[in-house]
Amino acid sequence: MIEPDDRIERLLRSEVRALSAYHVPDSKGYIKLDAMENPYHWPSETVELWLNRLRGAEPNRYPDPACVGLKTALKNANGVPAQAELLLGNGSDEIIQILLMALKSGATVLAPEPTFVMYRQISQSLGLRFIGVPLRGDDFSLDAELFCAAIETHQPAIIFLAYPNNPTGNLFGKESMERILAIAPGVVVVDEAYAPYADASFMSQLEKHGNLLVMRTLSKLGLAGLRLGFLAGHPRWIGELDKVRLPYNINVLTQVSAEVALEQHAVFDAQVNHILHERALLKAALDQMTEVRTYDTRANFILVRLLRHDASEVFLALRKAGILVKNLHPSGGLLSQCLRITVGTPDENLKFLEAFRQAVKTPI
Ligand SMILES: *Cc1c(COP(=O)(O)O)cnc(C)c1O
Repeated sequence: MIEPDDRIERLLRSEVRALSAYHVPDSKGYIKLDAMENPYHWPSETVELWLNRLRGAEPNRYPDPACVGLKTALKNANGVPAQAELLLGNGSDEIIQILLMALKSGATVLAPEPTFVMYRQISQSLGLRFIGVPLRGDDFSLDAELFCAAIETHQPAIIFLAYPNNPTGNLFGKESMERILAIAPGVVVVDEAYAPYADASFMSQLEKHGNLLVMRTLSKLGLAGLRLGFLAGHPRWIGELDKVRLPYNINVLTQVSAEVALEQHAVFDAQVNHILHERALLKAALDQMTEVRTYDTRANFILVRLLRHDASEVFLALRKAGILVKNLHPSGGLLSQCLRITVGTPDENLKFLEAFRQAVKTPI
């Protein structure tokens, strides 16, 4: 292939060239405990029902751009206040992008750090100013004093609060969150990607705060392959943001499949309960080990810190044993020597624990 000339350098924004692509490792053949997926597929009756409904889909036609049926089902399943409206996205990643694309140029985006990396990544790709406010080093809790001071200084147009936070797994204090909501000069997005596992939510607070938006996704519940997220908020916010959304962003297969899944919520409730049970077992087993520290989690993963080993070496040893977890050590800072382990099936978790014990048996 012929090399492009200097046009890449001349035409693309320097912010874009400075980014590195979001890296997803090849996971074929591995026990996959790296991406917060629900490890369970559907029972065969549910699969039958799903395939029958897909037969009625018309891939030759554009999908319903308004997703009327799907929105009603999502509102009911998620306790969205009746007066609130929804914006749907191709994953909540797309909703983050829509929110940030709608801001004025030069706007400031504020979030605690470490947190979900796409807030920073998308802000930077759009040339917005991203400010990360460090969480407390000992337990990753939100330092409300520090965060509110950053709000005063930087006057952010938008604040992202992942509740629970990724990759740390904890819930920020409710009082801190409410203080932020009270003083924020812009919009506050509470990202509830892990709502099925958290037993805590700001959804009902939408009625009380005109500048609160609550974002959720079906990915961590067990539908990561469908790519469906939503934002709930005041109809005026949603109406404006909807202008930035591409008209057919939710494809027909996702619409039909998500509708079926929401009707079959008992299947997912049971899966979530299994995962919560396994989370407790996995955490208890890790807490027995003197080589690691675990952090409180309200999500379907556990953050651990290696106390006597190099996390990257443990990560490689696990990979050699066929187990993929997320190595956070390269991001450095508060996450140095940390690994993030997604809760898998009982069998996967046992295999992980076995390989993990093996990997930390000899101090490095
Ligand atoms: C996984 C995750 C998302 C993105 O979810 P998708 O809907 O799959 O794009 C958003 N926010 C947080 C905090 C997440 O962990």
